[in-house]
Amino acid sequence: MFDHFCSAGTMKQILALHREICNTLNLKPNRLPDFYPKIKAKLANSWKAQALFKKFDLRANHKVYGKGRICAQTKVLIIGAGPCGLRVAIECQLLGAKVVVVEKRDRMSRNNVLHLWPFVIQDLRALGAKKFFGKFCAGSIDHISIRQLQCILMKVALLLGVELHEGVSFEELLEPTVGRHGERLGWRARVSPAEHPVSQYEFDALVGADGKRNTLPGFKRKEFRGKLAMAITANFINRHTEQEASVPEISGVAFIFNQKFFKKLFEVTGIDLENIVYYKDDTHYFVMTAKKHSLLNKGVLLNDYAEVSRLLSVENVDRTALMKYAQEAARFSTCGLLPLVDFALNHYGEPDVALFDFTSMYAAENASIVYERQGKRLLCQLVGDSLLEPFWPTGSGCARGFLSALDAAWAVRSWGQIPAPHPLEVIAERESIYRLLAQTTPENLHRDFGAYTLDPGTRYPNLNRTAVTPHRVTSFYDCDEAVQLDAAIGTRKRRREMDISEGALISWVGCAEADLASAVGAQALADLVRRYRPDLMPPSAPPNAVYHVLQQEFGITPFSPTGAAYEVPEAKLRSYLARVYLAFKGEVP
Ligand code: FAD
Repeated sequence: MFDHFCSAGTMKQILALHREICNTLNLKPNRLPDFYPKIKAKLANSWKAQALFKKFDLRANHKVYGKGRICAQTKVLIIGAGPCGLRVAIECQLLGAKVVVVEKRDRMSRNNVLHLWPFVIQDLRALGAKKFFGKFCAGSIDHISIRQLQCILMKVALLLGVELHEGVSFEELLEPTVGRHGERLGWRARVSPAEHPVSQYEFDALVGADGKRNTLPGFKRKEFRGKLAMAITANFINRHTEQEASVPEISGVAFIFNQKFFKKLFEVTGIDLENIVYYKDDTHYFVMTAKKHSLLNKGVLLNDYAEVSRLLSVENVDRTALMKYAQEAARFSTCGLLPLVDFALNHYGEPDVALFDFTSMYAAENASIVYERQGKRLLCQLVGDSLLEPFWPTGSGCARGFLSALDAAWAVRSWGQIPAPHPLEVIAERESIYRLLAQTTPENLHRDFGAYTLDPGTRYPNLNRTAVTPHRVTSFYDCDEAVQLDAAIGTRKRRREMDISEGALISWVGCAEADLASAVGAQALADLVRRYRPDLMPPSAPPNAVYHVLQQEFGITPFSPTGAAYEVPEAKLRSYLARVYLAFKGEVP
């Protein structure tokens, strides 16, 4: 049964076999410590299972997961079993949280192929991808079909104990309330079908991984509008003949600059492209960015409209002409060596060719929000395409999506710790990390992929965890009792300020004089800020500007309007310095 589970290729088979395995072994999906050791022990006779579990153990035993107990009190709901939802589910499960995933589809049917950055390949290998899919990234292959990737991640998640419900759609977030018998109910979800048991599940962390049409409210989106960009994807049946195997792939980067090729393509076929990518996978997959005039000339677009949604509306696209266009471009770019006769079929059983608009792309303004109602807190986060929409022809979606999944799980880790940090601290760190995401490339990540852990510091070389300070994210903490919020920060702040000795503060500033008044002097503080955050104090800024900078950036009110320390009581100076110290340590100032 286990071997069948490992080789199963559809969502239906995977879930059915997993249920059968669990029933036979008398197990129920649960938190890692209550599920994983049991399934491992019961499958001790299967060498394949043991080889896989060895890999899982290697990851699970890392200290960052605290032996699978660090989030023992945390319950997570994940919306969407796309690659990013499943990746974040795996990490939350390793942290020991209770993890439930809802997926509205009952099938995984996306033929399209994702380009994988080297760290993603390493990450998936470490999760045992090859045990489930022997051809995974063999040789120089650096891509995988979305469907295959989902299969691999789903199997890993299920074997670790994640609970997954297919055919269940998240509809709405429900606030805590009092139940029929007077019991206090926590955060829940309204789902479809309405009576599904998941509707009773109470959680304190919610992850929106439902793709670009994000259904979670409260996240504003910003639009990046570029020049008109229309991409065509096309999948042809791969019969895996020797002839097909010998035709080289086309990597996007290599072709983007090959103007001679595109000129020739236009002369011979009338097709005008900006780029084209070809990957040989389960299908022959092509993605190309086409110029409008050639789509109009070739009859793919029937009429020219300025408004993109109208231009690409179903009524304005001739599907037969689109298929011909994609086929012709694909044949020309592979020098006619591929037969490319039959299209593979899509989710709806139709030839898998599609035309998409990438003129406007969206990104969420923030990655996290905390809601608090009647004393119950909920950490909400977005990952993957919900957070940052990818441009398919460059294939950055899955890699940035995986980074966001790991970053979100890191925030769940902070959320689940006891004692729990203040919500604003969790949000501030999450937003500091999110600032880096859109700029990440394979080149500016840490090179040592083997050293990557859940800790974002192992991935981003230039990570500043305090780039966003807690006082700047107060709008992302939606609490029904504002007074309590201030009090909570105040108490923590005072307690932490008292924890640091005066001597330690003065020596941390590093000024020559060993007294408080000198340590809070403009020159000493300006030097200090330049040491930690040179971006805040350019060399041309006068030292006195430091008080203003500290107020603007960290919300630290100057100890006196004039900056004259000798007029101010020592306790006030000490408190001021302690707040500066805490600000740079990433604590609530
Ligand atoms: P997705 O993969 O979109 O997964 C989201 C999941 O959430 C889906 O399974 C969806 O059914 C589920 N869902 C949505 N709403 C709900 C709800 N209310 N309740 C429960 N579940 C819900 N990228 C490329 O680089 N190249 C491509 O050619 C390419 N083709 C694509 C084709 C399609 C049709 C789509 C949708 C995406 C494509 N992408 C492509 C994007 C790529 O798939 C994503 O970047 C990658 O899969 C990571 O996405 P994700 O997990 O964030 O979201």
